[in-house]
Amino acid sequence: MDKIIKTISENGAFRAYVLDCTETVRTAQQKHHTLASSTLALGRALIANQILAANQKGDSQVTLKIIGDGSLGHIISVADSKGNVKGYIQNTGIDLKKTADGQVIVGPLMGRGHFVVITDYGTGNPYTSTTPLISGEIGEDLAYYFTESEQTPSAVGLNVLLDQDDQVQVAGGFMLQALPGASEADIARFEKRIQNMPAISSLLASDNHIEALLAALYEDDAYKRLAETNLRFNCDCSQQRFKNALSALATTELQQMLQEDRGAEITCQFCGQHYIFTEKDLEEMIDDKA
Ligand SMILES: [Zn+2]
Repeated sequence: MDKIIKTISENGAFRAYVLDCTETVRTAQQKHHTLASSTLALGRALIANQILAANQKGDSQVTLKIIGDGSLGHIISVADSKGNVKGYIQNTGIDLKKTADGQVIVGPLMGRGHFVVITDYGTGNPYTSTTPLISGEIGEDLAYYFTESEQTPSAVGLNVLLDQDDQVQVAGGFMLQALPGASEADIARFEKRIQNMPAISSLLASDNHIEALLAALYEDDAYKRLAETNLRFNCDCSQQRFKNALSALATTELQQMLQEDRGAEITCQFCGQHYIFTEKDLEEMIDDKA
């Protein structure tokens, strides 16, 4: 089971989240049939979204929109504070690797654009905050978002590793933040540590990457584990939900579907699930509106 563990240093100067999102990203790849670059971009966005949602207090929902002008198109995902995330990428079929080492290319294919975070606390007044894309690699864009938009100095590392067949092998990451109580000496020490940390890809490749990440982040510093939450790819779509959406259409549009298409088929963008509505379903909807 995927999970996020929230920790804090014993002296209260730092906090860190470490995540295993392997099943989440594997499920997303299976549902959307993504090729290598699309898998990495979508997977990193889902991890970033889970970090953003975990960072909220109470029962809230965070929508992440990464809007780039590159060939990957945009990525939209939604996560809640209970560990659920769903999401899709506009162009699922992008597969570009460096010829020298086979490294999957993401950032240049996201291009320039915006990192948009919409937080809904359930009050009906969602709060939107936008920062420019720094590199399109998504981890760096999230770190910039935290630093700029929330004025919290942050380091973020997240990635998805693929096997030889471009299937998801492991996915995860970390977020490290300085807290208001951190001294300048604390910050300097942790900055140096982040700079000297092994690459996120090599930490993710460890047998137990959650523990490898914690060891690399804290070294000899004492820390406490505050909370652990299970994470999953989970779409909340249903036949009823799309029926409600269809029912909201004008009667003339429903009649057109009935006459021209003899029914309706709707595919959920977030998870690829198909929903079929028969002629009888459409007739009932039209009757209900009369
Ligand atoms: Zn769905």
